[in-house]
Amino acid sequence: MTTALNRPDVAADATPGTVPFADCWISPQARRAAQEVLTSGWVTTGPRVQAFETEFARTVGARHAVAVSSCTAGLELSLRALQLPPGAPVLVSTFTFCGAVQAILHAGLRPVLVDVDPATGMPTEATTSAAARACGGAAAMMVVHWAGDPADVPALAAAACVPGSRVVVDAAHALGATWHGRPIGSGAAVNFSFYATKNLPIGEGGMVTTDDPDTAAWLRRARLHGMSADAWRRYLPGGSWRYDVPEAGLKANLTDLQAAIGLGQLGWLPRWQRRREELAATYDELLEPLEGVGLPHRPAPSTGQHAWHLYPIRVLPSSGTTRDAVAAHLAARGIGTSVHFTPVHLLSYFRSAVVVPPGGLPGADTLFAQELSLPLYPRLGTPSVTRVAAAVADAVHGHRREAV
Ligand SMILES: *Cc1c(COP(=O)(O)O)cnc(C)c1O
Repeated sequence: MTTALNRPDVAADATPGTVPFADCWISPQARRAAQEVLTSGWVTTGPRVQAFETEFARTVGARHAVAVSSCTAGLELSLRALQLPPGAPVLVSTFTFCGAVQAILHAGLRPVLVDVDPATGMPTEATTSAAARACGGAAAMMVVHWAGDPADVPALAAAACVPGSRVVVDAAHALGATWHGRPIGSGAAVNFSFYATKNLPIGEGGMVTTDDPDTAAWLRRARLHGMSADAWRRYLPGGSWRYDVPEAGLKANLTDLQAAIGLGQLGWLPRWQRRREELAATYDELLEPLEGVGLPHRPAPSTGQHAWHLYPIRVLPSSGTTRDAVAAHLAARGIGTSVHFTPVHLLSYFRSAVVVPPGGLPGADTLFAQELSLPLYPRLGTPSVTRVAAAVADAVHGHRREAV
């Protein structure tokens, strides 16, 4: 089969000679499945959502999977499922996506920001326990597997003195990552995103996986107005119009149209992950010799597997140049890059909405000045990776030439 995937450099519908930062490819299988849903007359939550949940749960080795409208909605529902008192403190990395922190606020809880190790982009046991002390003891914790690098969830939970059942995992980057031989996705509430640029793109959508049947049942109701779990069947022949609403829920269901696309994409995931690994290895090889360029952290092979959602490099002071100068150098050559993320404590709205530990968040401040995410997606051709790496080398060396 000849597809875009095994042809180098047909990436995106890009202007020739450019390397876009991101790409979204909807497979022929997914397009066909979407077409079938559109002609079936049943487009919202229904049998395709159920089938997608079953297949997704199998993929990540979880007992239950509950499809939701976005990872952000899933995070809010996962936090609401804990039934914490209003304003209860929840630890979260400051080096994460703003939506994750908004989910804490919308759940009526108080975000407590945790600093990161600039070498990993993630909280350490020390920064986690410092943040827990700063808020007088955390009620719950959100853990993000930043860039797809699996975090040690049990160690961080222990450092926070938070039981495993109160850890909400933000696995938006981590579909395809493993930890001690198991895919990320088993355990407490683990949240995935199917946003257009994520490892399994649908366009929009999310999934919460859990091994706890009560949490799954609660999420199933809460994602659809809090109506009794099978309310979606009420329009089917023989379905009953009767339902109850035991408590308030959200409107955060996934549609059959999205689920059909997700199912069609899922068959490609192993190939996409292998391609991401190949591309990351090529970047490693080409960038490793460059002085002042820090390669992304990854788990020891015996510990886990990186999902390679992002390929984040660090432009270190020893490079003699800056992240912004390297990004501008690449942009001038038609190469897209991004920064993940602007730390939450630097976004104006959050300044008054979150708790910042005494002493601030110096690790995140350091990393924010250095972090640069390079293009990485299955349709990226190897020649493009070579071009990106050469442009990074040129940016670093060019500066050296000017300096002498
Ligand atoms: C993309 C992302 C989210 C939000 O996902 P949506 O499905 O767009 O709501 C949350 N956290 C992280 C780390 C992300 O990258």
